[in-house]
Amino acid sequence: MSITTAPTSSSAATAKAVLDAAFPNGLGAFVAGRVATGSGDAITLTAAATGEPFATYADPGAEGANAILESSTAGAKVWGALNGFERAAILRNVSRAVEQHAEELAILESATTGKPIRDARVEAAKVAEMFGYYAGWADKLTGQTIPVPGNWHTYTERVPWGVVVAITPWNAPMFTAGWNSAAPLAAGNAVIIKPSEFTPASSVRLAQIAHEAGLPEGVFNVAAGLGQTVGASLTTDRRVGKVSFIGSVPTGRRVAVAAAQAGIPALLELGGKSANIVFADADLDRAADGAISAIFSGAGQSCVAGSRLLVERSVHARFVEMVAAKAALLRVGDPLSADTEVGPIITPQQFATVTSLIEAGVDDGGRRLTQATLPESLSGSALKGGHWVMPTLLDGVSPANRLETTEVFGPVVGADAFDTEAEAIARANNTNFGLAGAVWTSDVSRAHHVAREVKAGTFWINSYKTIHVAVPFGGFGDSGHGRSSGPGVLDEYTQAKAIWVPTRAAGSPFPSLSY
Ligand code: NAD
Repeated sequence: MSITTAPTSSSAATAKAVLDAAFPNGLGAFVAGRVATGSGDAITLTAAATGEPFATYADPGAEGANAILESSTAGAKVWGALNGFERAAILRNVSRAVEQHAEELAILESATTGKPIRDARVEAAKVAEMFGYYAGWADKLTGQTIPVPGNWHTYTERVPWGVVVAITPWNAPMFTAGWNSAAPLAAGNAVIIKPSEFTPASSVRLAQIAHEAGLPEGVFNVAAGLGQTVGASLTTDRRVGKVSFIGSVPTGRRVAVAAAQAGIPALLELGGKSANIVFADADLDRAADGAISAIFSGAGQSCVAGSRLLVERSVHARFVEMVAAKAALLRVGDPLSADTEVGPIITPQQFATVTSLIEAGVDDGGRRLTQATLPESLSGSALKGGHWVMPTLLDGVSPANRLETTEVFGPVVGADAFDTEAEAIARANNTNFGLAGAVWTSDVSRAHHVAREVKAGTFWINSYKTIHVAVPFGGFGDSGHGRSSGPGVLDEYTQAKAIWVPTRAAGSPFPSLSY
């Protein structure tokens, strides 16, 4: 049984009811076509909107990790033996099944993580699109015929890695589970998603739906559990061909080093500190809307969040007031309410981090232009115990302020003024991150120049936050390496194999070259 009509409150009781409906026998890992409850440490899930615990589930432990790997190794053989046309047909079914279950997935995501239902609905539709898009590539993976000197026919084939482990974060669990599974599956790999221990439910349900739509057993497993136990086991086991990681810089580096020591390559999508640059000649009303959505959608828990707002001095004071006024109109509230625009911070740990970084930003000279007090609809209701942070704009955030370079991962933007284009570019690049950024201007040449000069894997002109599975996405610098979307990602999830055939008997088939 599943819930397909959005409940009306985000209480712990609602989260529990939604979870129980999705997993009548309890939440756990998804292994070989079924949900398997673990035997390791108990993990407690908390309702972000009320702060109350609503469920516990068990870590799979070392034994569970081994069972998942055995299942995925077998799954990779079965899946890799299918041809691209067969894989494409099944992935198209998965796409359709996700579409059919989109509302259910959105409710599960919203109720168990506190993500606003309107965002969860968009993300569920995007996951269906991801499977549809990569289904289209599954039967188009080709190698090359490569001319070489001498009498040779030389060609390459693309070979899947076998088992791909995808570690995902808590801010967009369903979206990142689709993002990092559709492409490797299309390329012929089995995938194990290791979701954040705080937000496993939608990934487990997604794998279940994909299995019901025709993915063979073991091809899409989910290791719901802790990073330091099951996550660490999966990323260092030689049965794994490749790791993809989405999360914070420190954890990403730890995972990449541990994987490298086991001889496993890792693709990293990490954090950001993206600059949103506004010139005086921009359409300021649109730019202010863009600045709002850049930082406050997802309550700022977004890797591409526009967390630095750089504004040309002649319009700076007016512009930040416009943004503050729009921020005050945002509907902050119950995630399951259809008109909520900003929800709570998903985890209690992150709530503590965000609130302490706001204090740091103020201590370092930032001036708060937005209201910090919770509205009566939150403070005077059942939601008062939730992890709420009001949309926060601090002005006068100078390069010396800790908010200039520290990723907050919450609804907090630091603004400052600039005088010249060169200063704006230098300021945007004053970070080791390089994930995203934007410029707002009516000068076409300036727009393209700034886009070229800012160090970022994704850059928007007079826009913010649009991404699509067909377009490469990833970071420069500390924001990671490798790309996780677009057609090029199929090269990340396969290896080239070169095959040489002599075309003439004459001459030596064994050239004297030592390499
Ligand atoms: P995190 O780094 O704390 O955790 C990410 C994942 O790593 C979780 O699943 C966690 O369980 C796992 N993990 C922890 N220790 C591990 C270990 N030793 N071995 C294997 N796995 C381990 O990140 P988070 O707090 O969940 O997410 C927030 C971060 O993610 C932010 O920095 C954000 O910018 C980043 N993020 C980046 C992107 C992107 O595409 N670039 C997208 C979303 C989020």
